[in-house]
Amino acid sequence: METQTPESIEKIESIHVEKRAVSGQPAQSLPSGGSAKSGRQSASKRKGPRPRRIPQRTCIACQQERPKRELIRIVRTPDGHVLLDPTSKKSGRGAYLCAKRSCWELALKKGKIEHALGVTISPEDRAALDEYVATLPPAPPEATGRGKVTHARSPKGTTSAPEVAQ
Ligand SMILES: [Zn+2]
Repeated sequence: METQTPESIEKIESIHVEKRAVSGQPAQSLPSGGSAKSGRQSASKRKGPRPRRIPQRTCIACQQERPKRELIRIVRTPDGHVLLDPTSKKSGRGAYLCAKRSCWELALKKGKIEHALGVTISPEDRAALDEYVATLPPAPPEATGRGKVTHARSPKGTTSAPEVAQ
């Protein structure tokens, strides 16, 4: 007598992995092409440079003023959390930082974020920020100088020159 084993019907093929947005990071990029649609002919004949309507914000770390969209906003939520606010839509007290690791490290190190937002960053929030900082470029892309040879710049004021014996 033969013993048939009809157990070969294994349905393991039901692994439908739906492409769900893994909580947090939507895969779409934010910038949506050119925003300035100048299709309409305006009556003005002036060919001046673009009107400077770009809102400026100051990085709390390096104190540099930059266009708002170049900066990363962090916000203090009503709960007292400190979160990244990439869309700048969250309400709450906000602060801006360059998208540079150096600025973030400085801000975190010196407690500038806490100072700017008037709140203590919880360990969890801090971890999230650290995680974000790790994704930033270690050095600004605009830095072209190679090597760390930074000689003293033009001396400020009068250098205390040694007394010249006449
Ligand atoms: Zn900065």
